[in-house]
Amino acid sequence: MGKLIIFSAPSGAGKSTLVQHVLKQPGFNLAFSISATSRPPRGQEVDGREYYFLSADEFRDKIARGEFLEYEEVYAGCFYGTLRSEVERIWAAGQNVIFDVDVKGGLNIKRQYGDQALAIFIAPPSLEVLERRLRGRATDSPEKIAERIGKAEYEMAFAPRFDHTIVNDRLEDAQREVAELIRQFLLNG
Ligand code: ADP
Ligand code: 5GP
Repeated sequence: MGKLIIFSAPSGAGKSTLVQHVLKQPGFNLAFSISATSRPPRGQEVDGREYYFLSADEFRDKIARGEFLEYEEVYAGCFYGTLRSEVERIWAAGQNVIFDVDVKGGLNIKRQYGDQALAIFIAPPSLEVLERRLRGRATDSPEKIAERIGKAEYEMAFAPRFDHTIVNDRLEDAQREVAELIRQFLLNG
């Protein structure tokens, strides 16, 4: 069985940016766990690449059939979840799994897999910077941005329950720190 690397953070902290960086590192042998979501595609997102985009009914059916390792209603009416089949697919290919999930989902996966999993919390330098990044990304409406900022403070309170917290201030520093944590974990953990 492979290992699991979990990234959680308030939206806009830079999780996706850091996950993309880590996926490029040679030798880590990581594959991204594509989550299912009931929210519509955003920007250039493609079904089966960033997410499996499901209708609310399809999502509910999969919940009822026990197909999710974990799922959460991350924002009102928007469900996100990790399919058991994703982890099985990646392990069957002999790779380690990397997750980009919300704070509760991240801790849920950590609880199920213990020392086989490394749970990393990505923190923004401040809520002001977080808001600036969300506006700069320009993928969400002002209402969605306000909802995400509103939730960020609550999400920050989960940081101490993760194995490590990395503050994503200067991107190159954060990239180096996460790569080093993962390197150590894959070698020794
Ligand atoms: P998340 O996946 O956590 O929602 P993203 O990775 O999409 O966040 O990052 C949010 C925005 O902030 C993006 O536009 C990204 O390019 C930018 N960003 C990420 N890390 C940094 C950083 N260290 N400094 C400045 N901008 C950053
Ligand atoms: P976004 O809409 O910005 O892509 O994601 C919103 C939030 O949902 C992020 O915090 C992201 O990490 C989280 N998320 C994405 N996939 C999953 C998942 O499978 N499970 C859980 N619990 N959260 C997820």
